[in-house]
Amino acid sequence: MNEFESLGLSQELVKAVDAMGFESPTPIQSKTIPILLEDERDFIGLAQTGTGKTAAFGLPLIDLIDKDSSHTQAVILAPTRELCIQITKELHNFAKFLKKLRIVPVYGGADIRNQIRDIKKGAHIIAATPGRLRDMINRKAVNLKEIDWVVLDEADEMLNMGFKEEIDAILDGTPEDKLTWLFSATMPQNVRRIARNYMEDPFELKIGTLNSSNEDIEHHYTILRPSQRYEALRRYLDYELNIFALVFTRTRRDAKEVAERLNRDGYSADALHGDLTQGQRDYVMSGFRSRRLKILVATDVAARGIDVDEVTHVFHYNIPEDISFYTHRAGRTGRAGNKGLSIVFTHPKDSGILRLIERKVKIKFAKAHIPTGEEVCERRLHQRITKIKETEVSKEVAAIMPQILAEIEDLTKEELMEKFATLSFTKFLKQYKRAEDLNVAQNRPQRRPERRGGRGGNVSRQRLFMNIGSIDIGDKAGFLSLLCKDGEIPGYAVGKIDMHEKFTFVEIEEDFAERVIRRFENSSFQGRPIRINSETRRGGGGGGNRNDRRFSRRKKYSRR
Ligand code: AMP
Repeated sequence: MNEFESLGLSQELVKAVDAMGFESPTPIQSKTIPILLEDERDFIGLAQTGTGKTAAFGLPLIDLIDKDSSHTQAVILAPTRELCIQITKELHNFAKFLKKLRIVPVYGGADIRNQIRDIKKGAHIIAATPGRLRDMINRKAVNLKEIDWVVLDEADEMLNMGFKEEIDAILDGTPEDKLTWLFSATMPQNVRRIARNYMEDPFELKIGTLNSSNEDIEHHYTILRPSQRYEALRRYLDYELNIFALVFTRTRRDAKEVAERLNRDGYSADALHGDLTQGQRDYVMSGFRSRRLKILVATDVAARGIDVDEVTHVFHYNIPEDISFYTHRAGRTGRAGNKGLSIVFTHPKDSGILRLIERKVKIKFAKAHIPTGEEVCERRLHQRITKIKETEVSKEVAAIMPQILAEIEDLTKEELMEKFATLSFTKFLKQYKRAEDLNVAQNRPQRRPERRGGRGGNVSRQRLFMNIGSIDIGDKAGFLSLLCKDGEIPGYAVGKIDMHEKFTFVEIEEDFAERVIRRFENSSFQGRPIRINSETRRGGGGGGNRNDRRFSRRKKYSRR
């Protein structure tokens, strides 16, 4: 017997979930479904994505809908187009044996006329993003005057995305006596406000501790210099053979850059960020869903609504900007009973935020061990050996073996294996030959112990020229942040900044200057190629290339 039967659902639905391979309800389903079926009451469910909450509200909703009446009876609001589509798909699967039920998704970025046509054909349930639904209501294409249920899915996300006004407008236009079911991973003030204003004596259910991330997720942190983050990421990707990972960055620029670097280094990765068209976004997402892409690098906003099971690792390339983002990022792994690992790359100055996340989300971070170069090589070698042991020998190879064995009869088994390993691991051995132990950096103080007065001190610096000035970036603070972020250097490495309208001279500590030059060379800023030179690098060779000449001119100009 399928365990869903004991929850009071109709036979058609039990048959459908059984066909979908759901054998037993998840905790949120077994607690929520009987309540929503029996109690005519508003409801608040505090649950993460991945816990099975779509079925928790979707199954009772489908059972309660009057299929013989064709008017719209329920609306589900969700933050993103992806989530709307996902919910609709899941609900269609549940309704497989209920021929008459119509569920229509409505979201921005698609032709509104087609959606209006779909709604006109009749929709028992509408799954919508708030912006598009309000638009449809204003055009009188949707009538919510007679609805019985409103479901707010990922309410905190909808408010984070700035849908407060739309949600208010939509809820204001619904009947007083409808029921509201609200689901949210976190319960910030703005979600409480909705509950207060629009719900009556709701039944509140927490799955796990409030805000806690799901138990299948392990949380790790690691302290790194910004310049080490990429290398650390690669270590994990090289170490874990079957990795299927999401990498979160704060900015679009970082997302693009990390994905590009990964591609250049031979990984199948792509980026998801706000600069993509809907078509590009769909292409990237289908690549990730189908596992063609093993690594998806995404910004927080763009990643909303990503529901892909079996993500093994979530990397936080930067610590999240907002604590609630942590839950949403980490919640993309450890779904549907799988285990997941969430690893935060932090800067030493982030330790306060880390503690805050621990307190708010009620989790404990363990210190990560970043695989060392040796560990990566060793593991790869073991994997290869295991594969060799498991490989069946083909007839063709067996036939020529006597000759080959004769050729290598002077070699011992050990020597043969050593040679084989060296040859087949050239790439890895080369890459990891002098690989730094990134775990060591974690114990090293990142700030120099002696605080230098102002930006002075006796550290040796290089003076660099960059063709970015105040008209491009505004002020020195903006310039400093560009240097540190994109140049991946700490603030203390930057000395005097001499900013002009169209260019800037900046002093950078010797240890970091080369890196800054490498990071900015051949890149562009607001569509213009960046030129960067160091005075010492330029040398006193005279003449020089075109850039150098321009550099000299500018330098003269700057001294006027
Ligand atoms: P959700 O939290 O609703 O996004 O669900 C996460 C994933 O778990 C989806 O792929 C669901 O199809 C799947 N799922 C939900 N409930 C169950 C269940 N009881 N048994 C197996 N898989 C489930």
